[in-house]
Amino acid sequence: METFDGSMGRIVTALQKQKGLARHEIADATGLTRTTVSKAVTELLDKDLVEELGPGPASSRGGRRPIGLKLNPHAFNVVGLDIRREKITGCLVNLGGKIETVATRKMARGSTTEAYVGAVGDMIVELKRRSRSMVTAIGVGSIGPINVADGVIHSRDFPALRNVALVDRLVEAFGIPTALRVGAIMAAYGEERIAADQSTAPRSVAFIVIDYGGIGLGLISGGAAWLTNHGGVGELGHLTIDLAGRPCHCGRRGCLTQYASGRALVESLGQSGDQSEAAEASLAQIALDAEAGDAAARSAIIQAGEYLGCGIVDVDRLLRPERIVVGGSHDHLADWYMHGVHRHIEQIQERSGADPKLIDRISLAQKGSTAIAFGAAAMQLEHFVRAPNQILSLLPRVGADARAAQRLAGKDKQDHVQLTTQ
Ligand SMILES: [Zn+2]
Repeated sequence: METFDGSMGRIVTALQKQKGLARHEIADATGLTRTTVSKAVTELLDKDLVEELGPGPASSRGGRRPIGLKLNPHAFNVVGLDIRREKITGCLVNLGGKIETVATRKMARGSTTEAYVGAVGDMIVELKRRSRSMVTAIGVGSIGPINVADGVIHSRDFPALRNVALVDRLVEAFGIPTALRVGAIMAAYGEERIAADQSTAPRSVAFIVIDYGGIGLGLISGGAAWLTNHGGVGELGHLTIDLAGRPCHCGRRGCLTQYASGRALVESLGQSGDQSEAAEASLAQIALDAEAGDAAARSAIIQAGEYLGCGIVDVDRLLRPERIVVGGSHDHLADWYMHGVHRHIEQIQERSGADPKLIDRISLAQKGSTAIAFGAAAMQLEHFVRAPNQILSLLPRVGADARAAQRLAGKDKQDHVQLTTQ
């Protein structure tokens, strides 16, 4: 659990949890003195991070009616990115947690390090151009493993970005806080954020990402990510489901990824599954075909989904997350996998009658193929709420300037002071 950024973090957290709190109610909720709250709120108003809602109901003791406060959802935007080998997805998310715009860019097989870093930079520039408020942070989800401490991707499956100091390069270029985590972790943050907005915040979320190259697992518990020295990657794809099964590049046999990954799906339809651009494109096409009614495509994804269901039941028996969310890197892919997942769980229920509520705890990613990019932004928003001072220091004092101008205008009328320009 990250620590609060002093009193400011406690105040912003209170305002995020409950809209319309007055200053004295924030003091009660945080245990801070009214003077401390009042000073902090003035700074938040100066930076346009908080809006006044107008006077609330009068208290029974009479006196001035307290003014309710709320976070300004348009105070700033953050960028979320999902970097895959075959494409980069980016989005702008405002402080209110709403996606303002989405951008995607396909990447050609064999793209160089500079081509990927350049494409990421171009996308951030484009999102900043579209943004109507200041962009204050960047969150990046990628395939793992990742070294969180130094912000470097270490995936053997992603040679173009392997060992590249991506976070350092982005901080150097854009000068704003930047964080890099495994995509599944970022997606889990996003789901938790959506659930919190719906007032159903779960204590734990397991997010399962179906990708061309494998199957990843991200875990959030009590608001914090399960982080390992692999960047939080849960290599669900390398769970053994058949000791005598298909050989896996990890050195074992019968790994889930050999039956349920995008690559396994492409091969099950008799297509070449080598790591070519065409093979990754055919995964997207299979998802589209299934959606359009192609029986072979549907049955292949559903079968892969049954294997995935086997892995999900293991995740549930090991960790019992309150919510299990399934998402894929292509539109419609996860939807069809889910048919197979349900079939597997229903078969267990017919045989044993166990876990009747498991299906209710499993759902599709609410943001679809934007789940990781949205989650990467959500993680940065969550970080802001807990430790606001870094982003606060980046924001201009627009609220203070507006009040100063108002005061000046008022003074002008009263005192007939003439402002002249030279
Ligand atoms: Zn394996």
